[in-house]
Amino acid sequence: MKLSNILIVVATLLVMEFAVTLFHKYVMHGIGWGWHQSHHLPGKSARWEKNDLYAVVFASATIILFAVGGGTDAPLWWVAFGITLYGLLYSILHDVLIHRRLPLKWQPKNRYLQRLKTAHHLHHAVRTREGAVSFGFLYTPPVEALREELRERKKVP
Ligand SMILES: [Zn+2]
Ligand SMILES: [Zn+2]
Repeated sequence: MKLSNILIVVATLLVMEFAVTLFHKYVMHGIGWGWHQSHHLPGKSARWEKNDLYAVVFASATIILFAVGGGTDAPLWWVAFGITLYGLLYSILHDVLIHRRLPLKWQPKNRYLQRLKTAHHLHHAVRTREGAVSFGFLYTPPVEALREELRERKKVP
């Protein structure tokens, strides 16, 4: 693996986190709420959610990107690889670690992972389209700042 390709993958991960945070905040909690709402309902775990359609759309788009990417010599192929890696990390952290959609007993003590978990549960503390906090997945603001934000919005005591 060439250094330039490693840099493309790392840059893609960073851009993806930024783009996904904006997408979650302004599209999924905006015009796309019709699909995402299913993910904010209580008692939803393990079953399929309408929200999973987002994963299907993104996976399909990435497959197309691989197809037009031109093989491992082309930079675009590595962008597609970076997006796939992001999707994989997202599934492991968001769906397995946080929402327990697979019957695994994985309970990491790692502080970064604990922070992701708590921050995302605070995102779910709000069940409505408006008023939620913490839209990122691999990066979240400090948990205390999120609690403070929620307190100000009087959503959580
Ligand atoms: Zn959400
Ligand atoms: Zn979630």
